[in-house]
Amino acid sequence: MTISTLPHPKIDAQLTKNLINNKWVDSIHGRTFETINPATGEVICKVAQADAIDVDRAVEAARTAFTTGDWSKLSPRDRGRLLYKLADLMETHQEELAQLETLDNGKPITESRTIDLPLAIACYRYYAGWADKMHGKTIPVDGSFFSYTRHEPIGVVGQIIPWNFPLLMQAWKLAPALAMGNTVVLKPATQTPLSALRVGELILEAGFPPGAVNILPGSGSVVGTAIARHPDIDKVAFTGSTEVGHRILEAAAQTNLKRVTLELGGKSPNIVLADADLDAAIEGAHFGLFLNQGQCCTAGSRLFVQKSCYEEFISRSIERAKNRIVGDPFDPKTEQGAQVSQTQFNRIMHYIESGMREGAQLRYGGNRVGDRGFFIQPTIFSDVRDNMTIAREEIFGPVMSIIPFETIEEVVQRANATQYGLAAAVWTRDITKAHAIAHRLQAGTVWINCYDALDPAAPFGGFKQSGIGRELGEYGLHEYTEVKTVTVKLS
Ligand code: NAD
Ligand code: MG
Repeated sequence: MTISTLPHPKIDAQLTKNLINNKWVDSIHGRTFETINPATGEVICKVAQADAIDVDRAVEAARTAFTTGDWSKLSPRDRGRLLYKLADLMETHQEELAQLETLDNGKPITESRTIDLPLAIACYRYYAGWADKMHGKTIPVDGSFFSYTRHEPIGVVGQIIPWNFPLLMQAWKLAPALAMGNTVVLKPATQTPLSALRVGELILEAGFPPGAVNILPGSGSVVGTAIARHPDIDKVAFTGSTEVGHRILEAAAQTNLKRVTLELGGKSPNIVLADADLDAAIEGAHFGLFLNQGQCCTAGSRLFVQKSCYEEFISRSIERAKNRIVGDPFDPKTEQGAQVSQTQFNRIMHYIESGMREGAQLRYGGNRVGDRGFFIQPTIFSDVRDNMTIAREEIFGPVMSIIPFETIEEVVQRANATQYGLAAAVWTRDITKAHAIAHRLQAGTVWINCYDALDPAAPFGGFKQSGIGRELGEYGLHEYTEVKTVTVKLS
């Protein structure tokens, strides 16, 4: 496999620092960490590694911005204007941002261009429009009183994001928080700090006042923990593994009861009934699992297919997987790039071994591609049983498990028999059946005859251990406001 070295965006010095109070600074202790190009395993650059003391500095800046700084004096409409400006600047620099995302994450450039960037920009615009539309209510209380509510910002918000969709997760976090008037201390994932820092530059260019947005690359155990435990952070929003989600909630409980929203893992059931449009279901299942190298919290990783079309579905899914183009992330024809890191690569290969050991049939793939970087073949297992490790745990890689079922009653119960509840999908030509099944699935999002159809206006989040709270849509705004009741005596 040839991995191109061009065209790569230039990494200017600021992209290796921390953003605190609108200044690009080194971490106080002067430590750095390396970010890797997953397609080659080579170091792209070193980035300032923040420490707990840098979190203190950033929180102080965010607190001042929130209470007395220029940010606190902006009207909601002016906050909206800044978010529109940021979206416009991201659009102007769309190609550069897409390249940076592909370089640091290993995802195909075509996906960065057509999925990550357009969705991130749309999210900033969507919430820019909301900034001046968050109305309270007037409440008909008993007695001679006038009672109304105000939706006020919470304060200083800590945000911790993952590496699978760095720019998009940054948008999902920053846009609603800022639209509602909060200030932010954001920690990008260690694997992918670069695009977040480039957006930091655009935030300054757009004219956001000092302290509104602070960006601190660093490790989860140090910076992430410091954010979760910080007594002057009012809310933390986290996306990542369920294991770390538990720790964030514990830290909040042990310190200041900061508000917590969590968007965690999934083991989403994708259910194909025998009466489905099989062409669409096969392509949809392929997309719903292999998108982003399988590194999606929504991945349809329990693919339940009805017995009467099971064998046909498997053989056609194998044909589709064989045609999947795996390779150089910078080649526009590439459908699947590199896994994000050696750690993730190893974890996925262990899951593939466990599938074989526990008796699932490896029908396609299972091997590394090339001899450098972190590429894995699209991999298909059939005859997967519900109690196998690959059917229970989140793999976060290009590993499809096709599981047979017979009746709707049976598949609904099996689909729900998991600690997770992020997403699900149903494929059938019978719309009555589709809705009935959708209503019974325990998941924050159910797709019918489609997969991963995401939009900033549609709420997203998890039932059960897939999370707490919702992102996106109007619902997402409520996670960034406190409701205040004001009651006036009239006579
Ligand atoms: P992770 O949960 O460790 O990392 C997510 C973010 O949390 C990163 O920014 C990380 O630095 C930070 N973090 C790590 N430990 C922390 C701590 N103790 N306190 C506060 N923040 C902390 O995930 P990972 O190790 O990168 O990946 C492991 C698995 O997590 C994956 O295989 C996948 O199953 C899951 N995952 C899910 C998502 C998602 O979108 N839901 C995203 C990434 C990873
Ligand atoms: Mg990287």
